[in-house]
Amino acid sequence: MDCNGSTQHKTYVSAITLELKPSTGSHTSQSRMNGTENKMPTSPTLKDKKADVDTCKGSLVKFLDPPEKVQVRVGETARLHCSFISSGPTASCWIHNRKKVVVDGERTCIENNSSSSILIISEVLPVDAGSYTIFVRNRRGTNQHTIILGILDRPERPASCPFVSQLTPDSLVLSWYGPTYDGGSQVTDYVVEMQSLETSNSGDWSVLTSQCKDTTYRVCSGLHPQGEYRFRVRACNAMGVSEPSEETHSIRMETAGEPQEESLPCADVVTDTTHKVKDLYNIHEKLGVGKFGQVFRLTHKETGRVCAGKFYRAIGSKEKDAARKEIELMRELHHPKLVQCLGAFDSRSEIALIMEYIAGGELFQRIVDDNFEHTEPNSVNYMQQILEGIQYLHHKNIIHLDLKPENIVCLNTTSTLIKIIDFGLAKKIEPGKPLMVMHGTPEFVAPEVISFDPVTLATDMWSIGVICYILLSGESPFQGSNDAETLALVTAASWEFDPEFDDITDEAKDFISKLLKKEKRSRMSCDQALAHPWMASTSPRVTKTLNKDKMRRFLARQRWQKTGKAVLALKRMTHLSHKSDGLDSPASHMKGNTNTHTRWGKEAEQAVLSLEQQLRSKPNFPKALHELTEPCGATVHMACTVEGYPDPEVVWMLGNEPLEKNNRVQIEYKQDGLCTLTLAQVQPEDSGIYECRASNQLGQASCTARLTVAI
Ligand code: ADP
Repeated sequence: MDCNGSTQHKTYVSAITLELKPSTGSHTSQSRMNGTENKMPTSPTLKDKKADVDTCKGSLVKFLDPPEKVQVRVGETARLHCSFISSGPTASCWIHNRKKVVVDGERTCIENNSSSSILIISEVLPVDAGSYTIFVRNRRGTNQHTIILGILDRPERPASCPFVSQLTPDSLVLSWYGPTYDGGSQVTDYVVEMQSLETSNSGDWSVLTSQCKDTTYRVCSGLHPQGEYRFRVRACNAMGVSEPSEETHSIRMETAGEPQEESLPCADVVTDTTHKVKDLYNIHEKLGVGKFGQVFRLTHKETGRVCAGKFYRAIGSKEKDAARKEIELMRELHHPKLVQCLGAFDSRSEIALIMEYIAGGELFQRIVDDNFEHTEPNSVNYMQQILEGIQYLHHKNIIHLDLKPENIVCLNTTSTLIKIIDFGLAKKIEPGKPLMVMHGTPEFVAPEVISFDPVTLATDMWSIGVICYILLSGESPFQGSNDAETLALVTAASWEFDPEFDDITDEAKDFISKLLKKEKRSRMSCDQALAHPWMASTSPRVTKTLNKDKMRRFLARQRWQKTGKAVLALKRMTHLSHKSDGLDSPASHMKGNTNTHTRWGKEAEQAVLSLEQQLRSKPNFPKALHELTEPCGATVHMACTVEGYPDPEVVWMLGNEPLEKNNRVQIEYKQDGLCTLTLAQVQPEDSGIYECRASNQLGQASCTARLTVAI
């Protein structure tokens, strides 16, 4: 018998090429004709990730319950630990904030093994905060996981110096912007500090409060008429107290006994076209910033009278027209519940409106003050005053069109009298001329404004309904998670009574229900609202103190929306709310996703692409074939394990001839690289040198063993 057997096999031998197909089990071999083009898997790119996932399920790297979020204090060591299951070699990289590849350094160390990667950052700094995405690549593709690293630190200092308002001889109100970064944990309190410039130990800062929960604080003790003071604030979180904000300039208190008039005489107002405001008035601190300009406290140079001056941002002719319209309209309004116009300036360089100074600040802000009683009968009182002011307007056919809590202010810091301010959007209705507007504040605007239908006096009544709802509950009836959602809720007139209303009278609820009607004709008019039974219920039969916490939150949210300053803190929130899943991949960027949040930096993309390169290796045989001697007629298994990436092609040879499978020759491979050749019913001529040859783009390797079939 020819123990070489090479010629004998020739009739059924041809090339056998194996591609290691992903699978959890074993496959029979896939044969190809000798000389066919190599079907190496092309180098996977980031783009291929989804395809990899689709076709290679079960064999991608699988993360084992990795953490989503890790929080450490500044100066501590952060350990971001990701365990995974993977077969074959792996390569991994960590990317910080989707941009920067993390490498070993002075404070950073990456510990990798075949089933985990740990990123260790020692002595963490605030700049280390953010997302850390680990990409782990094996032969089947790439998987990723993102961990958010939160660094807990003291907050940054408040973003602004405190603004001073509502100055009286012995009290004032400070308000400020919160820090741009809260240090990774919520700001819980503010410390308000004062420096007296009148005492001998001036220069010392004293703490007025260290538990202010809001970004506004009324200072009502320790201040003296004509005294001069400076103020600053600090923010606190669980980690500590921030540096102080910038200080205010020195604030001189009013002279004692200044008149606190409820209303001013309705003198005819003339527009001064020759002077500028500063010619006649001393300009003091800023009282507020509005849509059309800034408002400052003024004192008349001769009379000492305190006023408020609104300086319009009127550059273009359209803006100038709008400013002049507001002034013209204000001239007509003489009512104790509406802020009164005292004068106007209109020169080349400046348009300004001089108003009575209203010292009490926003009504809602007053209400949340601890010393202030907030009950349903009090709320009736406020609503009645609002209605009286608006009734006056409506009788003149003027719509306010911007009624909201911040435009309802208190006359002074002690009384419960209010006034309506800001007539910048107010419009007179001309008979027979439908009026459409496209402005307002989403939470308070009526459905007809959104649908661009004609507005009427009833448009204000809707806003009054919203104000009343918030006044009684602290909840905003149409507040959605964004403006679009809010507008959709308003359009659908979709609202209900919050559980806060359980303790509110049915009359109050009926009052609101008759205002928040989608159909404007069905809403109560101002006259009807003033005649509503709830308005007559001012007797203190319901004296339960209403919950102020929700209103505090409402005010905080309003301020937050206004500041637009909390960029960093907001960014942090977006990071945290962003779930790291399969969509959160560099691939989504490459597929034209323009959302900047999902954008990956060039360096990150390069690093992820290079993982594939790192896996590349030429074939080798960790387990080689070994010599066998078998009896004639036996079934012989020859096995070896091949490694290499891209997956090697494997060819079995006997002598110099490739083997082909047939009913006696079986060739199998498993995804872990195990290659087996099974020969049934071996005959002496099957004896010889068997070779398993593996090749890929990087090279080739082979292992051989002799089979001896004993006769
Ligand atoms: P705009 O019409 O530009 O929106 P506003 O009239 O609403 O401006 O004024 C902006 C802010 O200035 C108000 O929110 C309020 O804090 C303050 N302010 C306006 N008018 C007075 C006033 N008469 N007295 C005291 N503060 C005022």
